[in-house]
Amino acid sequence: MTNNHIQTDILIVGAGPPAQPPLFLSKMGIPHIIVDAAKFPRDKICGDGLDLKVFRVLQHLDPAITVSEVFDNQDFLQSWGARIITPNGRATEFVQPEPAAGEPLRSVLWTAKRLHFDQFLVKKIDSRFANFLPETKVEKIERDGNAWRVQAKKSNGEELEISTRLLIGADGDHSVVLRSIGERGIERRHYAGTLRQYWRGVGGLHPKNLIEVYLPKGMPLSYFYIFPLPNGEANVGYGMVSELIAKNKYNLKDLFKKLLYEDPLHGAAFSGCGTPGRTHRLGYTAGFPAAEKFWRRLSVGWRRRFFGMSYQRRRHRNGYDFGLYRRTFCAESLDIQTF
Ligand SMILES: Cc1cc2nc3c(=O)[nH]c(=O)nc-3n(C[C@H](O)[C@H](O)[C@H](O)COP(=O)(O)OP(=O)(O)OC[C@H]3O[C@@H](n4cnc5c(N)ncnc54)[C@H](O)[C@@H]3O)c2cc1C
Repeated sequence: MTNNHIQTDILIVGAGPPAQPPLFLSKMGIPHIIVDAAKFPRDKICGDGLDLKVFRVLQHLDPAITVSEVFDNQDFLQSWGARIITPNGRATEFVQPEPAAGEPLRSVLWTAKRLHFDQFLVKKIDSRFANFLPETKVEKIERDGNAWRVQAKKSNGEELEISTRLLIGADGDHSVVLRSIGERGIERRHYAGTLRQYWRGVGGLHPKNLIEVYLPKGMPLSYFYIFPLPNGEANVGYGMVSELIAKNKYNLKDLFKKLLYEDPLHGAAFSGCGTPGRTHRLGYTAGFPAAEKFWRRLSVGWRRRFFGMSYQRRRHRNGYDFGLYRRTFCAESLDIQTF
């Protein structure tokens, strides 16, 4: 038990992009607290791809935001579409058409390192309504009558207790919020184990920065991707359905290396090109669920799923685009509740 006690109506655990109801709560003038274990800016394993949904949410927050803060931002790169390569080696390109004369050249797909994108959002947290506590790790959550009692520890060892009426779990794949309410569990059929690596100078990238997804031959339910990034870098990754990895005892790192250096389609693109030191190493693993489950559940009790006493079902999201969307709806729905 600590003497350091805060009381709030709304507590959000995690400050990644899907945890950005703070921006909307602030817009509505609703006070809240947001805690995150990390010190920002921080990296996060991800493909770094931002689709139109992300920008719709940003526009919803502030119609000027994309034009004034994204389009000329060196941390963001426009991608004009996607190149999909099927197991037979056939590449299909989906390229956004050139705009008509006089219209601005705008793309619907972007990339930005999570290091930069998450920081971009975090910097928008409005301290008039949001009390943002970085380097504060939630360790224990208990029900306390109609409220939640949350125990956290700061990086300097200081303990903190927060009582909240509404608890929003946006704390990622190893969510302490889900664990505390007994909802944490991985369904391997709906998860992919994934590796990610930053590269510099990858050969053969499309001049229009198409993101590339490759479904390698003989490796079902897996994908290799190359997402071009600003400054000549690329986010390169490989993922496979977890159930398949476990069943076949695959070593994902070995498969990834083979794709990088020996694959007939991609080997040449990676051999001989330099990579930034720190991120060159392999070994990042993470999982993310398929969207199918999210949509299946959406029709049932959406209101409880979306803004119940906590975001208990948050693990059925896929991508921070979905996360941003859903939690934006949540934030705005709070407006019609008692806050
Ligand atoms: C390899 C890979 C590629 C991907 N590519 C894409 C892509 O291109 N586009 C896309 O839209 N999505 C992509 N995704 C999915 C995307 O990364 C996730 O959907 C998204 O990060 C989930 O966001 P989140 O806020 O729920 O969790 P996270 O982004 O993991 O953020 C959780 C936050 O909670 C904090 N936290 C965790 N535990 C605690 C605690 N106990 N106390 C306090 N704070 C805590 C963490 O520090 C972190 O800041 C990819 C995922 C992977 C693994």
